[in-house]
Amino acid sequence: MYNQLTQEIMEQIKAVSEAVFSGEDINPDYEKDEMPIYGTHMPDLAVQPRSTQEVAAIMKICYDNNIPVTPRGAGTGLAGGAVPLYGGVLLDLTKMNKIKSYDMENFVVEIEAGVLLNDLAEDCQTRGMLYPPDPGEKFACVGGNVATNAGGMRAVKYGATRDYVRAMTVVLPTGEITKLGATVSKTSSGYSLLNLMIGSEGTLGIITELTLKIIPAPKAAASLIIPFEDLHTALATVPQFKMAHMEPQAIEFMEREIVLASERYIGKSVFPQELEGIQIGAYLLVTLDGNSEDEVDALVEQAAELAVEAGAIDVLVADTPSK
Ligand SMILES: Cc1cc2nc3c(=O)[nH]c(=O)nc-3n(C[C@H](O)[C@H](O)[C@H](O)COP(=O)(O)OP(=O)(O)OC[C@H]3O[C@@H](n4cnc5c(N)ncnc54)[C@H](O)[C@@H]3O)c2cc1C
Repeated sequence: MYNQLTQEIMEQIKAVSEAVFSGEDINPDYEKDEMPIYGTHMPDLAVQPRSTQEVAAIMKICYDNNIPVTPRGAGTGLAGGAVPLYGGVLLDLTKMNKIKSYDMENFVVEIEAGVLLNDLAEDCQTRGMLYPPDPGEKFACVGGNVATNAGGMRAVKYGATRDYVRAMTVVLPTGEITKLGATVSKTSSGYSLLNLMIGSEGTLGIITELTLKIIPAPKAAASLIIPFEDLHTALATVPQFKMAHMEPQAIEFMEREIVLASERYIGKSVFPQELEGIQIGAYLLVTLDGNSEDEVDALVEQAAELAVEAGAIDVLVADTPSK
């Protein structure tokens, strides 16, 4: 098993890092993520590194002394992966939060792993670009998204996080720094170690920097709420959008019970419960995007016709601003 962290090892870590926390100075949030049911445990030491070199120096010290290390982004995970179950060192990567550069010839952005998804999305938007992965939690770190291969509603059209990672810098458990992948879209030499790291939940190394694919942002979008009498009819409609070459940007289904529970929680009613005397059993949420308002309007019309033919009770256009 692992060794205990000694005063001497702590001093070695303090010599390479300025933000080192022990005892009562450790942020109590570090003992859990968003799902404490999977276990809670405090680290013996927490460090907020500022660079790949700093991460490498800490990893080498821990490797040489057989001390466990747990990387952590924003701690929004739902599987307990960022919880330091064996104690040791917790590496909080949120201070490595620089958006470093855009390469508009290859359509990529280079960032540090601790950048928040929300910050990256907003920054891309100011340049007319879109970083498509869009998991429900916007205040996770992109490094955490990569370590969990986060998906989200837009995966149906654009894919999940894995599809947007071109290259990364990783610190291996030994403290060696390695670069995986390439900026260009076509690269096929060697093993696909990049894909091994994506979704590895902090078990294979620490992701410190990322090169991510971005795309020109669609100019218009519209969201639909489509109520159905039952879940089966709602789900059977989904492949029909694809067959009609509609490629919705996002599709999600919600059952009646989930909607009622959510509305109870937020204390207001958002979705209709009954239409034309029929109790609604399930909803599809569909977002369509395109390069002009006219194009999106035509898609909305086509989607509405298709949904009603497939058994939808009605089609409601959600009151959201276009992106
Ligand atoms: C409200 C909510 C909605 C969500 N919706 C979706 C959704 O629609 N689709 C979906 O797929 N997911 C969804 N998620 C899960 C979400 O994708 C993860 O919570 C998020 O990606 C984790 O990022 P984080 O920075 O918080 O990572 P953390 O929770 O801190 O860590 C998650 C895992 O990644 C590891 N890790 C973190 N950073 C690094 C790094 N730099 N290098 C190596 N390993 C690292 C950790 O050790 C841990 O194993 C949702 C979560 C919430 C709370």
